[in-house]
Order: sequence, then structure tokens, then C-alpha cells
Amino acid sequence: MTIERNPTRTVKIGTVSIGGGNPIAVQSMTATHTSDVDATVAQIEALTEAGADVVRIAVDSPRDAKALEEIRQRTSVNLAVDLQENYRLAEVVAPFVDKIRYNPGHLYHHEKTKPWQEKVEFIASVASQQDCAIRVGVNCGSVDPAQKEAFDQDDSISPMLASAWEHCELLDGLGFTNYCVSLKDSDPLKVIEVNRRFAEKRPDVPLHLGVTEAGIPPDGVIKTRVAFEQLISRGIGDTIRVSLTVPNDRKGEEIDAGRGILEDIANGRVRSVVNFNTDGLNIISCPSCSRVENEAFVQLAEDVKAMTNYAKEHSVTIAVMGCRVNGPGETDDADLGLWCGPKYVNLKKGPVELGRYEYDVILDHLKTELDIVIAEKQES
Ligand code: SF4
Repeated sequence: MTIERNPTRTVKIGTVSIGGGNPIAVQSMTATHTSDVDATVAQIEALTEAGADVVRIAVDSPRDAKALEEIRQRTSVNLAVDLQENYRLAEVVAPFVDKIRYNPGHLYHHEKTKPWQEKVEFIASVASQQDCAIRVGVNCGSVDPAQKEAFDQDDSISPMLASAWEHCELLDGLGFTNYCVSLKDSDPLKVIEVNRRFAEKRPDVPLHLGVTEAGIPPDGVIKTRVAFEQLISRGIGDTIRVSLTVPNDRKGEEIDAGRGILEDIANGRVRSVVNFNTDGLNIISCPSCSRVENEAFVQLAEDVKAMTNYAKEHSVTIAVMGCRVNGPGETDDADLGLWCGPKYVNLKKGPVELGRYEYDVILDHLKTELDIVIAEKQES
């Protein structure tokens, strides 16, 4: 089946080019501690062997940045770096990577009085000097607060779009065009809508597709497939990542799943339907990365799925997140949220904190709250 792809411009990420009619590149991310150079290099190599075109690494501290220098010396794989709040680390890491991902919603945390435009200008100038690509990574759980305020509370799509479009405009104005955009949500239907609307206005900007916090396979693969099939069949998408909650030694499954979905789409084996059923229990969980604060996280996500099986007919969303960086924000929209610290798991009901509990008792507390949520929904 020939799919007419959107006429996106070419973006170069090391030895790989995305957009401009190039094959859709498949990405994944390491989940080892970045400062553990041996383990991180081993995981990069394993992901590359599985077929990854680009491997992303999280860098949160000068210590991680130092490790990155050594990692670069030991692998020639195309590397992307995930910057969190400290945008200035871009300068330290750019010489060792091929792409820098920043999240517009995180640009407010450091140097609060400095306008975000100046921070983007800094990242773009560093990227330009080091021949790095940029990804503007907009995420449903951490949207630019100014954009969130400008729209109706029930409209989660428009703030994401407005944020992405204004960053594109700024980068274009700076003369920096070696960038792509991602707009991720944990709901595949929202991923379809937000990317479709983005591409309508900016068909020239390459898109990195992903369903964030898709969860444990096979559910995580199914949710991702729904979004990718609908978008890629319509020519939208230049690089993909399947985010799965799997243990470190199974990270290659993200690549296998991504390649399998692409192959099926290319061969016309499209299985999902637009009115994908979102009723019933929905467990979203992050794919884990180097920021995970307790290795028990993946097991916890699996235990949550098993324990809550009795409630599978109820329309309840439970979010399970691996760390404090994204956990607190990205559990706000779930009925119940868990985010993991080193010793305790924090339990939330919507944006409200209910308490923090040790790993061996959290499931009991979750069950109590789940029963309350089910009863409340039945009454309303
Ligand atoms: S929630 Fe934390 S541990 Fe999970 S993928 Fe996001 S940053 Fe990594």
C-alpha cells in the first residue's frame, strides 16, 4: 500500500534523516541510570541491535552530563537527550548528542523571571553550533501553564497545539529549522486529534508520534497501534516511539512493537477503528527511564493491573508513574494516581494528595480508594 506522506522538511539526527520522504525512524529510550555508564552503553547497544534508529537518554544533572561524554566515546549510535527543567544543560550535553528534546512546559522552572523565548533561543543556538536537531516535546501532563490558562479547562487539546505552534514560530523566526515536534497524550484518540490538527496547520514540520504512558503490553501496544494506524495511514508521522512499561532487559520490545506496527500499516494490515472503545478500566503507566526512583516500579505497575482486574467494567483511569519529575503532574487527570518515590508510593485522587505509603501496603490503599471511586461514579 502506498501512503502519501505529508510534505515535511528533512531533519537530520546524526546519521538518520526524518521527514522529507525518508523512512519513518523508530526510537526508544534508556531506563538505566545515566551515570551507570556500563549499563547505559549496554542498553543503547541492545536497543540498536533490536533496530532503534535513535536512542534517547535522560540527563538531569551535571553528573549525568559527565557520564554522557563517556557514553558518546563508547558508542556511535544516534543519541537524543531528554532535558528536563535545567535548560542550561543543553550547552553541556550538545557536543555529545545528535538531538535535544525540550518540553515547553518545563521551561518555567529554572530562572523563573527569564522569558521562555530567551531560553529557547539559547537551546537553538547551542544546537545550531553543535549540529544537533531539536524536538519540541509537548506532553499532556505538563503543558505550558500560560497556554493552559488561556483555554477552557475541559479543552486539553488547544493548549497543546497553541504551545507547539508558538514554539515552531519562534524557532522559524530564529532561522532554526532542524526541528520536529511531538504532541503526546495517554489517550490514543487525543493523540490522533492533536497530531491531525497540528499537521493541518503545519504540514511542513516533521512529527514524532507517541502515546505517552501507554502502559504494560499488550494493552500499551494496542493503544499505540490505534493512534499510529490512524495517523500514519493518513501520511502523518516521521518518527515513532512505542512507550511500554517493561523491565530493563525487555526494552527491545518497544522497537519490535514499533517496527511491527509500521510493517502492518505498509502492508495494509490496519486493524483498529476510529471509535476505539475507551470505556472500562484504563491503566496508564510510564515506560520508566533513568529517573525511576525505585526498581520496584515496573512490578508495581503489573501488580496494579492484576489487583484491579475485578473493576475492569468500570470507567476509571489509574495512572502509575515512576518518579517525582513527571509523576505529580501527570497523575492529575487520572481518577487515581500513584507516583513512586525511593521508599514510598504517593497516592492521589485527581489532583488531591491522599498520602504516601510503603510499597508493600500501597495496593491495599489503592483498592480502598478504587472502591470509593466506583461507588461515587455509580451514584452520580
Ligand atoms: S514518569 Fe519519570 S520515570 Fe516515568 S518515564 Fe517519565 S520521567 Fe521517566
